[in-house]
Amino acid sequence: MTVDHGHPLRFGVLLTSDGARPEAAVERARLSEELGYDVVSFVDTPGGLDGWTLLSWAAARTSRIRLLAGPAGPFANPAVVARAAAALDLLSDGRVELALGAPFTSVGSIEPVPDAALASAASAGRAEPVAAYEALAEPVAAYEALGEAIDVIRGIWAAHVRSPLHFDGRHHRVAGAERGPAPAHNIPLWLAAGTHPDALRLAAAKADGWLHTASAEADARLLTAPAPAPAPAPAIAPSGGDLAAGGAVIDEAATAAGRDPRELHRLTYLTGRFTATAEGPLTGPPEQWVADLLPLIRNDGLSTLLLATDDEETLRRFATEVAPALRAARGEVTGRTPASLFVRRHRREGIDYDAIPAALTGSAVEPGDAAFARVRSTYLRGGSPGLVLRPGTPDEVGQAVRYARTQPVKLSIRSGGHGISGRSTSNGGIVIDVSRLNGVEVLDKATRRVRVQPGARWSDVAAALSPHGWALTSGDYGGVGVGGLATAGGIGWFVREQGLTIDRLRAVDLVLADGSLVRADAEENAELFWAVRGAGANFGIVTAFEFEAHEGGEVGFAQLVVDATDTAGFLQRWGAAMEAAPRDLTSSLIIGRARPGQPIVAQIMAVVHSGDAETIINRLQPIAATAPLLDHSIQVLPYEAIMHVPHGPHDAQGEPVTRAGLADHLTPELAAAAARLVASGHTYFFQVRAAGGAASDVPPDATAYAGRSANFSLVAFGPARRALDEQWDAMLHHFSGQYINFETDLRPERIQEAYPEPTLRRLRALKRRYDPANVFRDNFNITPSDP
Ligand SMILES: Cc1cc2nc3c(=O)[nH]c(=O)nc-3n(C[C@H](O)[C@H](O)[C@H](O)COP(=O)(O)OP(=O)(O)OC[C@H]3O[C@@H](n4cnc5c(N)ncnc54)[C@H](O)[C@@H]3O)c2cc1C
Repeated sequence: MTVDHGHPLRFGVLLTSDGARPEAAVERARLSEELGYDVVSFVDTPGGLDGWTLLSWAAARTSRIRLLAGPAGPFANPAVVARAAAALDLLSDGRVELALGAPFTSVGSIEPVPDAALASAASAGRAEPVAAYEALAEPVAAYEALGEAIDVIRGIWAAHVRSPLHFDGRHHRVAGAERGPAPAHNIPLWLAAGTHPDALRLAAAKADGWLHTASAEADARLLTAPAPAPAPAPAIAPSGGDLAAGGAVIDEAATAAGRDPRELHRLTYLTGRFTATAEGPLTGPPEQWVADLLPLIRNDGLSTLLLATDDEETLRRFATEVAPALRAARGEVTGRTPASLFVRRHRREGIDYDAIPAALTGSAVEPGDAAFARVRSTYLRGGSPGLVLRPGTPDEVGQAVRYARTQPVKLSIRSGGHGISGRSTSNGGIVIDVSRLNGVEVLDKATRRVRVQPGARWSDVAAALSPHGWALTSGDYGGVGVGGLATAGGIGWFVREQGLTIDRLRAVDLVLADGSLVRADAEENAELFWAVRGAGANFGIVTAFEFEAHEGGEVGFAQLVVDATDTAGFLQRWGAAMEAAPRDLTSSLIIGRARPGQPIVAQIMAVVHSGDAETIINRLQPIAATAPLLDHSIQVLPYEAIMHVPHGPHDAQGEPVTRAGLADHLTPELAAAAARLVASGHTYFFQVRAAGGAASDVPPDATAYAGRSANFSLVAFGPARRALDEQWDAMLHHFSGQYINFETDLRPERIQEAYPEPTLRRLRALKRRYDPANVFRDNFNITPSDP
């Protein structure tokens, strides 16, 4: 009977190490990667190097090969194991697999490790307590302990669960451990547990696969004895009978546990010798190895074969003569492996997960996946989408769109995840996250033409352009993604001198609502190019932007703290100073809530596009004179340095509350209204940015961003929607437009403010042409015009 479950066929190596030549094992791991092996694992024995350390070193010296850790024993502290595996998975970009094991030799009972040893292991594993980790001091069945260990490991990895982990088992106890970190991917858990029915049932119920060893003697030789000599003899050849019997137990137990037996992978250790003539199982020429192993793959469902040898010749011959022949003989794998029960349990209504295009399944993240904690939320908004697709090529973006548009749930588009409205996440919807498309490339030095992908952050762009002496006007914070900013506007540190980010845009590639990829520039799809510059998110997913960079170099970066007790007067004076300033100066200010008993203070930030101290001081003086100066710092830095910020995953909770508007001038009336808002306490962060200058040179109908007359962009963050709305709505008559990238109010009036007629009419007609079904509607939706 054939039980090939359709898992990809993988070949791995099990290597040993010794203290005399510590680097040799890692060199063999590198060789294995070069030879095309898929997995590397190390024997962790007292005589050799510590397995985790070795695996970490190997991770750093390789780039593709999967790193199989363990087997970790039933009484290893599972919280420590979970954190070690997650850390290595994050550092190795999702390459870790974890074996847990009570190998053959352990069947029956195992003396538990004494409490004291466990306690010290627990405290050594982390700085904060894995609160009160304990072991019970009685002889116990290893498999029960392993089952508990799996629960604890999965519990630690479930970083998206906000409550601490409590686990009260017979062998493992965790009282209030902080969860996390979430690994970069769903680390598969293989149970290395002999052929005892209890072990198999456990694998079937809780693990992702069964790691088989041929016998107790094989276990001892491979996993628990000191390093075997190169090309050990005799061979360790898995037996078809064992695999078939074990497989039957697993299939039955998996079904009983509500799982699809095809979820479970089957792996085995083996070794042998290449000899000129057939001498026995896995002892003969390559053709004999193929003949011995093929039935185990075809009939017994083995999909990962781990060759235990340190012998380079054996490694090479297996990789070049056995593995390819086995792959060819097994043929194409059709169909797909079902997701695990755990993952399926967390699926959301309305999404057809089985229909996800094959090219996207490997990188897609679902609520049951370990990586979910890292992708569920954005910088400012907590979310819990039903599916996050992470295409890695424009073609995959097209596939993602074609799939998503058939699903009856919300669709969100995400690049850097810094959208202030937070619409790049959802609850229960699908997110197309293009953060993996994050390249920055110089296309033509003469014209300073650069191609930037949407998932790049503005700090990446600044860093890539800096060596050429160039920069690109963007925003004031390097963590913001290119995709969301460069489709809407882009008010940054060079706005007055260079205009908006969209004003430097020369072409885009974007995936339309039907999944097709088009290019738009001034000649080709010119109307679309017009729409993308200000309302891009309504028309497609941009997969590449082509910009014309401008001169970069050094800037004067000033931070001034001023007494803003006379808030209205200060705002007016600062506004007037900015309108009068040369265009190489850009500035913004932030006013927070006054601390009890302290004056209202404002923080002014200003950038002068010059490295010359005299010019910088000259430009800053009128700004510094707008209010009593409390503190200041001025630095001359490369532009890249002020944009530099480290990137990490987002973990916001709740809903952001902001209101935004564009104003031509900070009139006495607007300044007074803003002062009242600040004094009311309904905003804890009120910001005004200078715009105008070069951004106002562009006619309002030249791009879909219409707010060209504005010299200022205002935004207020508030703790409560209603109170902030009330105050802000009363200020609306002061504004001349809207920059949607600072707004979170979803009422339709915001669309009319951002896209006043005739811009809106033109956009709606284009929407009808390019996205009549309104697929792209996650953020400030422009509805298609009526037929
Ligand atoms: C700390 C901070 C500082 C900021 N500073 C500035 C600033 O100085 N100047 C300024 O102009 N803005 C600034 N912003 C606002 C910023 O422009 C927006 O938040 C922008 O949307 C973020 O882009 P993102 O790709 O990171 O966001 P995401 O959350 O990934 O996307 C936001 C929205 O953009 C759209 N979108 C994203 N990617 C694409 C794509 N590839 N194709 C089409 N549409 C897409 C979607 O509608 C999505 O909902 C700031 C935001 C933050 C959080």
